[in-house]
Amino acid sequence: MSATASGPPVTPGRCADRLAAAQALTDQAGINALLVGVGPDLHYLTGYVATPLERLTMLVIPATGRVRLFAPRLEATPARACPAAAAALLDVVTWDEQDDAHVLVAAFARAPLGGRPDGGTFAVSDTLWASHLLALQAALPQSVFGLASRVLRELRMVKDADEIDLLRQAARAADRVVEAIAAGPLVGRAEEDVAREVRERLLDEGHEAAAFAIVGSGPNSASPHHGASDRRIRAGEPIVLDIGGTRGGYGSDITRTLWVTGGDPALGPDEEYRRLFGLVREANAAATAAVRPGVPAEEIDRVARRIITEGGYGEFFTHRTGHGIGLEAHEEPYLVAGNREALQVGHAFSVEPGIYLDGRYGARIEDIVICGQDGADVLNRLSRDLWVVAG
Ligand code: ZN
Ligand code: ZN
Ligand code: ZN
Repeated sequence: MSATASGPPVTPGRCADRLAAAQALTDQAGINALLVGVGPDLHYLTGYVATPLERLTMLVIPATGRVRLFAPRLEATPARACPAAAAALLDVVTWDEQDDAHVLVAAFARAPLGGRPDGGTFAVSDTLWASHLLALQAALPQSVFGLASRVLRELRMVKDADEIDLLRQAARAADRVVEAIAAGPLVGRAEEDVAREVRERLLDEGHEAAAFAIVGSGPNSASPHHGASDRRIRAGEPIVLDIGGTRGGYGSDITRTLWVTGGDPALGPDEEYRRLFGLVREANAAATAAVRPGVPAEEIDRVARRIITEGGYGEFFTHRTGHGIGLEAHEEPYLVAGNREALQVGHAFSVEPGIYLDGRYGARIEDIVICGQDGADVLNRLSRDLWVVAG
């Protein structure tokens, strides 16, 4: 459970840019300090990848002045080695077992308030444990607390060239795993056995974590978040294969739909399945083609949904069209009705329409795309056709 670096570190130059931008936004927002615990925001800002623990590790970014990283003494070595600390962009302050870390953080965060003992405005990272937040609130009485995403979302959503490169590498690695799985064997194996192979292959391809491996065969393909069961795959049915994890800290997430014939041409997809899959294929293509700067996120969902609805399957497309991806598997922007957020160059998200006929079968196609100046940069390179394989 020690803090291990995951993938290539964030460069000191990126840390400097991100910390400066975060501090400027904190100041502009009238927030006294950002209080960032262990998690994706800390990774993003400092390159420090640590395990969340009951012992407090916290980056404090005051509206002005020097940034501090508080860490328990036993974590001093990895904390001082993180790119931001190694480049002296912040001061590392270690605390001892008998100290109250929340009180120490509070004293530093409140210092710029001058004579006023309390009444500040603070923003905490969204995934900070409640136990830490409650202790900080007790140490900073009569203060206003909000979420750090209020200031960090703009930064985190727009991926820089380093982040796009990491997302692309993760996507290509996941592509290779899909190809290997599609090559078989599949028929006769349990879904969970295939899922185990998916996870092993993702790790072999350089992922530090294989977060999920959905192997939905036959009727299980109609359940979007099925996972994998002990059901054995049969010839003459589809498999929704949705896999991903993190590589270099950044997420992969791809879905391809297979149809296994067992080598018997008579066991190919039936007429309805071909029609249904064609709609999903068309929806994925049209939604991807609609991506460009300035288009509201909900418009991408609308484009995909209209095709499936006009094809008669609207009620069977039961989830949003996509989610942002980066240091987190699901993050902003979400491609969902009601989200008017305008896409910007550098936004990264999935485009993943699907149709699910409960008890029968389903299909989904998912790619990760980057919004570029002239449209979508699709990171996954595999064919989006139905993969009819012997299995
Ligand atoms: Zn999902
Ligand atoms: Zn997925
Ligand atoms: Zn996804």
